[in-house]
Amino acid sequence: MHKLLKQIVRTGIVSEAPPAPDDALRAVSQRLKRHILDTLGRALTIRHVDAGSCNGCELEIHALNNPYYNLEALGIRFVASPRHADLLLVTGPVSRHMETALVRTYDATPGPKLVVAVGDCGCTGGIFGESYASAGRVSNVIPVDVEVPGCPPTPTALMQGILTALNVGAKGASTRHLR
Ligand code: SF4
Repeated sequence: MHKLLKQIVRTGIVSEAPPAPDDALRAVSQRLKRHILDTLGRALTIRHVDAGSCNGCELEIHALNNPYYNLEALGIRFVASPRHADLLLVTGPVSRHMETALVRTYDATPGPKLVVAVGDCGCTGGIFGESYASAGRVSNVIPVDVEVPGCPPTPTALMQGILTALNVGAKGASTRHLR
């Protein structure tokens, strides 16, 4: 035991330092939380659909739920069924195998519904483009309200995209491209 304690003291803390406070992230977090409360008065529910992603975008989406970005504290929850969702977060170019599933998921989501296409692949088809195996961008298959480019987009960009989608939903505007 004594030996182990000595080794712990000698080694010190080996994990990386916590990130510095990010003013841009704090601003978008506060706006998002306020907007959700003002427009919905309850949690915003999101169904994530991987329509053919390489999973790089998923890693950034998963980061939204970590203690740093802490999406649940802002009143946002990921749900397992489109029937419980306000917003679809769609990644990847739409592979031909996922085309019908994506349309059915969209149809199963109750209106008024919002769709955010994530990543260069979701916005344009990305490096996969359109082919016998890929239908390309998400808007080729279902209506899209907001596009969040990036390969992959950062968690802050995703939060900004969700905030823009809420604004689009409130104003009934057409597709917005975040740059
Ligand atoms: S945008 Fe980039 S990270 Fe996202 S699915 Fe396409 S290749 Fe992968």
